This record gives sequence, structure tokens and C-alpha cells, in this order.
Amino acid sequence: MSEPLVIIGNGMAAARLCEELAQRALGRYAIAVIGEEPQLAYNRILLSSVLAGDVPASETLLKPATWWRERGVTLSYGAAATAVDLSSRKVTLADGKALSFAKLVFATGSRAIRLPIAGAELPGVRTFRDLADVASIANAASRGTRVVVVGGGLLGIEAAYGLAKAGAKVTLVHLMDRLMERQLDARAGSMLKRAVEAKGIEVLLETATSRFVGDGRIEAVEFKDGRVIATEMAVVAVGIKPNAEVAAASGLAVNRGIIVDDQLSTNESSVFAIGECAEHRGVCYGLVEPANEQANVLASRLAGRDVHYAGSVNATNLKVSGVHVFSAGDFLGAAGTESIVFCDRGLGTYKKLVVAAGRMVGAVLYGDTADAIWYLELIRTGVEIESKREDMIFGRALAERLAA
Ligand SMILES: Cc1cc2nc3c(=O)[nH]c(=O)nc-3n(C[C@H](O)[C@H](O)[C@H](O)COP(=O)(O)OP(=O)(O)OC[C@H]3O[C@@H](n4cnc5c(N)ncnc54)[C@H](O)[C@@H]3O)c2cc1C
Repeated sequence: MSEPLVIIGNGMAAARLCEELAQRALGRYAIAVIGEEPQLAYNRILLSSVLAGDVPASETLLKPATWWRERGVTLSYGAAATAVDLSSRKVTLADGKALSFAKLVFATGSRAIRLPIAGAELPGVRTFRDLADVASIANAASRGTRVVVVGGGLLGIEAAYGLAKAGAKVTLVHLMDRLMERQLDARAGSMLKRAVEAKGIEVLLETATSRFVGDGRIEAVEFKDGRVIATEMAVVAVGIKPNAEVAAASGLAVNRGIIVDDQLSTNESSVFAIGECAEHRGVCYGLVEPANEQANVLASRLAGRDVHYAGSVNATNLKVSGVHVFSAGDFLGAAGTESIVFCDRGLGTYKKLVVAAGRMVGAVLYGDTADAIWYLELIRTGVEIESKREDMIFGRALAERLAA
């Protein structure tokens, strides 16, 4: 008899887990997936491209309905899991249904953080996390609409770009002194700012938002320095919070995310967590590659293999047409590291490779990102780089030819 395996969350991590389980342990589990969003799992990464009008929403679907059916996965979407009873091993859904499990996986992702300031709930103040958000932002934005995007990280920049491309007049507001400070150093950040401005987006750095103002809907954004910008819409992209409340209420250990060990198991050995809702060795990842790596490890474990998850390297690409930005690992360079730097402002190219003890540990690339995958591979594998160190800043082709 197949063991009942329930997955809460029908996002990217859940889809990858089902795909891997179908290959490694077909028939061993009767899988049921519970999704709050009212559609099949889709590629969330593509939402920026959907907003920019480069990809139709229909192309974001990860797997067609037949794929799930053929693999015997029972899908229940449009109703959230509201409670988990660990002693009776039951999940309760918002529509009143209940599912029994022998093993349970939380893959509930994160939600966008709302700013805790006055006016945050006004109509016209939106977040950027799911297909419904993209549809409502796109509906409201047209040529000449004034929009303030709060948050100059990856999502805020991509939202600002998509809106500007649709003809909106966009102001991008960021609290810090450079864009994408969690992925870029000061030099790459300043080159990025110029490129974003060249797309017609006004960028305000070191600007703290104090409140959204409006009578019945947003009319302006007020900043701590007293400035006020009139606007018809605000998009808030200031960070994410793991969806861990249901897990916490069931008695599982939760810090920022649901705490898991190297087996991706929570403090209850038959309950697991993967993707953005999981906290592993104190880290909650906000990217898809770690979610995929965790799904692969968990599928192997559920198939009976003794594998472990040791953490992931963070790596990011910005999806703004004509602006090539890549960052991975220790991009700032902690004490004890050295940096190899190449910069040609005229060409709009900047590369910084961070090395420690003869190995690559981080990189920032701006302009020329052709070798990003190679650098990432060197960081992930931790191979010794001394033989190519002299030339690696000039790219793989030259470095490998000269090292041979
Ligand atoms: C606009 C945008 C652009 C991005 N670009 C990139 C990028 O370029 N590169 C990158 O690596 N990452 C990117 N990301 C992040 C990436 O999408 C996430 O890291 C990835 O989706 C995480 O997968 P997940 O399965 O953990 O969470 P999700 O994909 O968010 O899936 C979680 C699902 O669980 C559901 N859920 C939550 N609670 C419940 C409940 N109680 N019951 C049932 N269902 C529930 C949610 O509704 C959601 O559908 C981007 C994200 C956004 C929003």
C-alpha cells in the first residue's frame, strides 16, 4: 500500500519535489498537494517578465494538469491548509476538508512584507508576489500612470522596469545607499543605478517612506525627510516573510522559518520543510535554486537514500532587458579574502572575483555576465583555482586555454 504523503503548498519547491519523487519513488507514496492559490503551480520567477509584457501569463505554468494526473498526484487548489494535528496526523483545509498523512511536507513559500506604516492597506498599495498581484498591477498601470515602487532590491527593480516598460512614470525609492545592496557592492550598485535611470525610472536612495496618503485610495507617498510624491499606485517590494504560521500553531519549531536539520526534517521526524518556508542552519533562502536543491535531497531521502543537505550558494541574476547583473556567494569579500577586480566604466563592465585560500568564494559581474555559470560552478564546487587565477577575470575561454 502507498504511504499517504501530503505536501502543503503548490509552488516551485512542491512541483520539483513531485517531479523528483515521480522519478525515484513512483508508487511508494500516495501524494496529495494542497495549494492556496487558485491555479496549478507556476514559475514565479517569470512574474517579472509577465509584468514587463515579455512572457504571457499562460506560459508560466510548470506542468499541465495531465502531468499531475498521470503521476497519480491528487491536487487540491484554491483552499489553504489551515491546521495540522500532529497527533492524529491530519491536515485541515479552509474548505472544511481533512487529509490524513503518514509523512507531511511544508512547501508554503513566503509572502511579501507589508510596510507597518499608515496607509499601507489603502487601495492602490500593492505587493508583488503572485499572479494575482501581477494582474492587478498590470490592470492599474497604463501610459502615464504615476507609480512609486518602494524597495530597490531585485523584485523592486524588476517591478519598476516592468511598469516603466508599460509606459508608467515610475519612481523607485530605496532606504539604503545603493540598489540591491544584498547582492551588489558599491561600484556595481552605482552602475546599476545609472542603467535603471536610463530606462526612464527616477531613483531615490537613502529615502525612508513614512506613510501612504489618500482619501479612499492612495494619492501620495510621504517620506521621512518631508518630501511628498503624488502617485496613483504604490508597489511595495521590501522583503519576504516565510509562511510558517500553520507549522508553528501545530507545535513545530519555528524561528524566522520552519526549522529543519540536514535531513530537511523538522523537530517531528516525519514532517519536513523545503523552499522559502524552511530555515536551515539559521538561513531562510529567498531563491529558487536552494528550493530545488532541497527538493532533490528530500526526494532522495523519501526514496530511501541516506543523503544530506549542507546548504546552498546564493546566486542572483537581474531580469531587466539590456542590464546584465550577476552576484554569487561572498560578493563583498569578508576578512581574509582577496578580490580580483576588472572595471571599464566606458564599456560598462565591472567584474569582481573574491578568492580565499586558493578557491573562489564570491563574484559580482556587471555588464559582461557571459561567464556567470562558470564562476558559480567554481564557487559551488570549491575547486582549487591557482592555475587559472591570473587569467580567470578575463573569462573561461582564455583562462582554460592558458592553464592547459
Ligand atoms: C516577481 C518574482 C521574481 C523572482 N525572481 C527570482 C529569480 O530571478 N531567481 C530566483 O532564484 N528566485 C526568484 N524569485 C523567488 C522564487 O520565485 C522563490 O524563491 C520560489 O518560488 C520559492 O519556491 P517555494 O515553493 O518555496 O515558494 P512559492 O513558489 O511561493 O510557493 C509556495 C506556495 O505555497 C502556497 N501556500 C502558502 N501557505 C499555504 C497554505 N497554508 N496552504 C496551502 N498553500 C499555501 C502559496 O500560496 C504558494 O503558492 C522571484 C520571486 C518573485 C515574486
